[in-house]
Amino acid sequence: MLVKVKLLEELQSIDLKIDGRQAEKDLLLKQMADLEREVEESRLALDTLREELAALQAQKEVNEQTLAVEGDNIVRSEARLHDIKTQKEYQAVLKEVSTAKKVQTELEEQILKNIEEAELLQGRVAEGELKLATLNGNIALRKEEVQAELDKLEAVIAGDQSQRAVTTAGLTPPLINRYQMLREKRQGIAVVEARDGSCLGCNMHIPPQMYNNLYKGLELIVCPHCQRMLFIRAAEPAA
Ligand SMILES: [Zn+2]
Repeated sequence: MLVKVKLLEELQSIDLKIDGRQAEKDLLLKQMADLEREVEESRLALDTLREELAALQAQKEVNEQTLAVEGDNIVRSEARLHDIKTQKEYQAVLKEVSTAKKVQTELEEQILKNIEEAELLQGRVAEGELKLATLNGNIALRKEEVQAELDKLEAVIAGDQSQRAVTTAGLTPPLINRYQMLREKRQGIAVVEARDGSCLGCNMHIPPQMYNNLYKGLELIVCPHCQRMLFIRAAEPAA
């Protein structure tokens, strides 16, 4: 029985190592995902800016076309002035021309505003492009680093796994199952040391008779409070 407890203890220590490395791996993968999301967000922001710029330029073109039409109208109206017979009609055409000129001025102001806004947006687009290019450069470097770290971790985990296989070969399947179930229920820790009369898994006191049996090593002792499998470090004499 002592041997089996020793093996269980070994298995627990290997599994904790694997858990730790797996957590490192998960952290690296999460870092990668965060970086990729950052790139994606800045790509989307850049797309939005480009769309705004395109909409603004389209608006400016419409304004310019309308301005040209207004200009043509004014020329036509002014030409008509020569052929007009009545004062009333003359006044009406003059009013038309003055209204059209007012519209022209407004359109010219609009176009100037469009140009200013487009310049601002172009600046922001350029900034966004630079940011994205920098991020892409950084992520490429970081990806290589992370991949190298991941490869290293994989190799170490593979080593741990083969050590684990050797250890579990000495244990019966029911015992391994019990160990696994306990690990799932008890935050990954199924086998713990008992010291100074207590279980170090839950820090609860172990009845003296049970504690003495631990030294005898004739049977597998589980903590009556947390059900973890217990072992003791050294063959100290029973108290
Ligand atoms: Zn316990």
